[in-house]
Amino acid sequence: MSYAEIIVNQKSAKADKPYTYRIPEELAKIIEPGKRVVVPFGRFNKLEIGMVVSIEDSASSDFKYKNILDVLDKNPLVDTDMIQLAYWMKNEYLCSFSEAIQTVLPPGDFREIKTYIKISKFVETEELSKLQRQIMEHIADGKAVIIDELKERLDTAGLMTAIQDLEEKQLIELSFDIAQLGKGKTQKFVKPIMQYNEGLGIIGHRATKQQLLWDEIWGSFEIPVSDLLQNCNTSLSVLKILEARNMVEIIEKSIQESPIGIDVARYSKIELNSSQRKVYSSIEGHPGEAFLIHGITGSGKTEIYLQLVEGMLSKGKDSIILVPEIALTPQTIDRFAGRFGNKVAILHSGLTQTERFDQWRRIKSGEYKIVVGARSAIFAPFNDLGLIVIDEEHENTYKSSINPKYSTYEVAMKRCSMSGSTLVLGTATPSVETYYRALKGDLKLLEINTRATPMQLPEIQVVDMRKELSEGNRSMVSRLLYEEMKAALGDGRQIIIFLNRRGYSGSIVCRSCGYVSKCDSCEVSMTYHKSNSRLRCHYCGSTKPIPILCPICGSSYIRGFGVGTEKVEEMLNKMFPGKVIVRMDSDAVRNKVDYERILTSMKQGEIDILIGTQMISKGLDFPNVTVVGIIAADITLNLPDFRSPERTFQLTTQVAGRAGRGEWVGKVILQTYNPEHYSIQFSRNSDYKGFYDEEIKLRKALKYPPFLRMGVITVFGKDNNRVKFAVEKWHLLLKGVIGDNNEVEILGPHPAPLEKINGNHRYQIVLKFGYNIQKQVADALDRVFIEDKERIRQNDIKVSIDLDPVSIL
Ligand code: ADP
Ligand code: ZN
Ligand code: ZN
Repeated sequence: MSYAEIIVNQKSAKADKPYTYRIPEELAKIIEPGKRVVVPFGRFNKLEIGMVVSIEDSASSDFKYKNILDVLDKNPLVDTDMIQLAYWMKNEYLCSFSEAIQTVLPPGDFREIKTYIKISKFVETEELSKLQRQIMEHIADGKAVIIDELKERLDTAGLMTAIQDLEEKQLIELSFDIAQLGKGKTQKFVKPIMQYNEGLGIIGHRATKQQLLWDEIWGSFEIPVSDLLQNCNTSLSVLKILEARNMVEIIEKSIQESPIGIDVARYSKIELNSSQRKVYSSIEGHPGEAFLIHGITGSGKTEIYLQLVEGMLSKGKDSIILVPEIALTPQTIDRFAGRFGNKVAILHSGLTQTERFDQWRRIKSGEYKIVVGARSAIFAPFNDLGLIVIDEEHENTYKSSINPKYSTYEVAMKRCSMSGSTLVLGTATPSVETYYRALKGDLKLLEINTRATPMQLPEIQVVDMRKELSEGNRSMVSRLLYEEMKAALGDGRQIIIFLNRRGYSGSIVCRSCGYVSKCDSCEVSMTYHKSNSRLRCHYCGSTKPIPILCPICGSSYIRGFGVGTEKVEEMLNKMFPGKVIVRMDSDAVRNKVDYERILTSMKQGEIDILIGTQMISKGLDFPNVTVVGIIAADITLNLPDFRSPERTFQLTTQVAGRAGRGEWVGKVILQTYNPEHYSIQFSRNSDYKGFYDEEIKLRKALKYPPFLRMGVITVFGKDNNRVKFAVEKWHLLLKGVIGDNNEVEILGPHPAPLEKINGNHRYQIVLKFGYNIQKQVADALDRVFIEDKERIRQNDIKVSIDLDPVSIL
């Protein structure tokens, strides 16, 4: 007798374990993991659709299990490998089973997927059974029919077996889709038809739900109504209020077939230079291995990826290309789409649920051979994977911030080892952890030290801003930067100015008593945005008016502190009147369309000075930019996180790489109050190895990754006392389970660096432990926080477990 483990409702958090069912003899041959089945569920044996996740030869107890009633799929919707991957993630990242399995299931609700059957060949019907002949007659007109429809009309016993046989004889074709959302269907979208500020005025302060919607609508400009309501967790009636006030328009559009625009220019193959060729051959010659390409900005890594993918295509194999954030790397997308056309699927966050399913279905059916996408594209359901590329591997976005809190690198390693695929990481500034692994031999290190085109790396000059001040320059632009900008503009060149803080200024501070304007629900200082004259919290997005008098001491000497991109924009406009100055940060750029519009006008030379945050640091290639100014490298350097020197090095190197991509040598002016800092010094000399050697010494001395693993447990909830009580109880439990072990350091519990976010009080327990005992620690965490969770967890208190977090705030 065999048994199947079945998940029934994929969305329910309660049913966190699969259920066991008995497989009746007649279904034994066709049941497989990844296929959907019909089972009687619950006390009243309601019929439910479930999915098989594993098959066992014996049951774990002699409990009388219910029988599976029917099998719905001829082919598994999800590969066994992918289900294995989900089990592995559950153990590795300590999340619930449903959270882990969700990543590999088709987008949406698997119960809504319908299988279609279509005739592919008309033949003599003698060798077919009566049921098979009935099926063939039913689909004789060539239209695709949902299998359920056959079930209603024909004898259901043996139907799946009959269909299976017909498919093997190649008389029919099977495909799947979401029935009610088929082709030619439309979807409702909402877009704003009033200025943002005007809208805010109409909504008023009390209507927080409307405000939330308004922000979300402006944040995406045009968004499917269903996605909007789900994101904001609100109902249609609230949206209707905005419509009635003529603030938004609801439009109906037909669902897009393919998300790649039709107007992508062809991107022809470039012959590799000798350094590129060396790297390419090493990878090509060792399929199934893992590589790190450490190549300076502009060394032509993308062309290597493209040609590796081409090699895969010729072998009939599939490729996954991961990029940090899709909107941030349009040039990479254009190159892939421009070379491989309709073989490429682009998975970006702007896709609707329907589009996401459609992409998934086409990848699964082999229509696409290449996927370019952000982090979650690592789960693309390819059947014959050959290559995974992680571009800009050092980026934070490769660590998931929601459960399962996976590292994309680790998942990629796992997928590669299951499928024998090649893994390629690429970057100009490897993360310390990755470089350490490469030196240890986990990855093969390949280096490129020359640019692909005959351009030199830009010259980086560091300006000590303390000296500027002492010599009488109170402006945030140094004299050197000013002179270089003036000269470049005089020659008709373009300039990029980088500052990693949006808004007008940092917090509003009272110079008399030191009061700082903080967000009521987050306890973090709010940022002054001059464009809408409000303070805005960068954590929860809420806004408030700017105080005219200090609410504590009544002083009127209350001012903004620190500069943001808005202020830089205002100042440069005064400094260089008549020049076209454009700001690019998440306030100015609300969607992909804005983003692309700015890139295009920059490329066409319509912009003289582009000011921006991290948004401008990656993957942009403007040949006419000769000067790059970094206004305050210190903003990143001063964050309370052990990775801030690393981040500073990465950011300055990436930003500097934007200069001198044309025929002129670029100049980079880096302004700082900490010119002696090793991170600044090594980036000035473009010396990654020097930086790494210094940084790795510190990591070792201070016991940080990659020498130890870290685990951060954040406990949070609305009621401070209850949260505090719970975290202390868990801390004791955890200490008890781990026991006396000098290889585990348990720090805390203490208030998290961000003590309060969104009204939640937050406390942390931080673990540092050796790689040799990670299994033990994981088991302990699993026991305390996952297995026992129903027993000890209270509804109003939540726990987040993050292993090797990229940020500990
Ligand atoms: P990276 O990704 O390493 O920063 P890119 O792939 O963006 O570098 O390449 C930088 C520029 O060099 C691009 O404009 C690209 O078209 C060009 N390029 C790449 N390989 C070659 C080559 N072999 N010969 C000439 N130009 C090349
Ligand atoms: Zn005051
Ligand atoms: Zn807030």
